[in-house]
Order: sequence, then structure tokens, then C-alpha cells
Amino acid sequence: MCFLSAMNENHAALVLFSGGQDSTVCLFWALRRFERVEAVCFRYGQRHVAEIEAARAIAGEAGVPFTATDVAVIAGLTVNSLTDASVAMDREPIGGVPPNTFVPGRNLLFISLAAIMAREKHIANIVTGVSQADYSGYPDCRDTFIRSLNVTLNLAMEEQFVIHTPLMWRNKKEVWQLADELGVFELVKTRTITCYNGIPADGCGECPSCKLRRNGLREYENSHQYQ
Ligand code: ZN
Repeated sequence: MCFLSAMNENHAALVLFSGGQDSTVCLFWALRRFERVEAVCFRYGQRHVAEIEAARAIAGEAGVPFTATDVAVIAGLTVNSLTDASVAMDREPIGGVPPNTFVPGRNLLFISLAAIMAREKHIANIVTGVSQADYSGYPDCRDTFIRSLNVTLNLAMEEQFVIHTPLMWRNKKEVWQLADELGVFELVKTRTITCYNGIPADGCGECPSCKLRRNGLREYENSHQYQ
């Protein structure tokens, strides 16, 4: 007799998947570890929707069921440079204050919504690409926040979710290394969109996200003489 409820299946995972470098590495990380993987992408009025199409295409090729969910309400509640093209983008945090690329509550909402969806699908594992190693001062990318939210979600739904954050302690160089180990270095390099201006692969080269990605790639290629 099996005493595990369907909810306690440990072989299924839902990946928060935006089509960027980090979440793409997470998608392939999950495919190595879980028998069943699904992906969810949240539309929230970000300046460019190209990343959603990149996400859909990559998920399709990986054979992963993909859901894009509209949460545009978040863009109407806050002013920030990711959802409002009239706001000039901060290049970096100023005096410990998150830059205006920070969308307050975004990860709180997205991971909570993913948990609701996961419960419906009898999926216990939630995978997200947040990292506090190499980021721009976003409080909802920190490990403490994720652990707190994990407890809260389990209490809220009387479930045993496990939130996985494979990139939490990896800097951008180490994320490229993981992509290589997973056999998706070229895919991540050429197909993903990390750029805040919505330009694929190497991106615009100017926005904070492009600079982080590019610096990490250069460091990794220099240390491994990747050809
Ligand atoms: Zn860019």
C-alpha cells in the first residue's frame, strides 16, 4: 500500500520559466532530476514579449508542457523601468536601494501563483532561477525570502512543496558552467533572452542584465578556453 498522496510525488516539477539564461538553465537542471517537468511563464507587461516567445520555443523543443499566464495587473500597481518604457533604467543599485528594474512583490506573486498551479497539477517541486550571488540588490532573490515563502505556502495550502533554487549561490560565471555541464551551453548562449531591452543572445550590451551576463560569459570562457 502506498501512503504517499499524489501531492507528495517527488518526481514532478514546475519550473518558473521566462526564456532567460537563468530559468533556461533551471529548466534543463529540472529535466535531469525529475521524471515530469512542466513550465510556466508569467506575462506582466514587461517591455518586450520576445522573451515569452523564446520561452515557448525552447520548452516546445525540450518537450516540456508550457503555460503562459497573464498577470498584467502587477504593471498597473507599480512604476518601474521594466514595465514602463517612459522610465529611464537604473544601471545599478544606488545607496543600497534596489534599482528601478525591481518589480516589488514579483517573485512573491509568481512563486505563489506557481504553487497554486503546481497543486492543481499534483506537482510538489517548484524550481526558480533566483540567485543572491550576483544580483542587483533584489530582496526577493535572497535565500531567506525563498525559505520563508516555502514555509508560508506549505502552511497556506497544507501541502509539502519544495522550492528548488539551483542558482542561489552561483554567480553568472558559474551559471554558464552549469549550462555547459547540462549540455546546453550553445542553446543558452544563442537562444535565450536576458536583456532588459528584449534583444536575444548577447543582447544590447548596455543594460545591467546584459553586463552581468556578458561578464560571466567572458569569465567562464577565459577560465575554460571554451571554443
Ligand atoms: Zn541588454
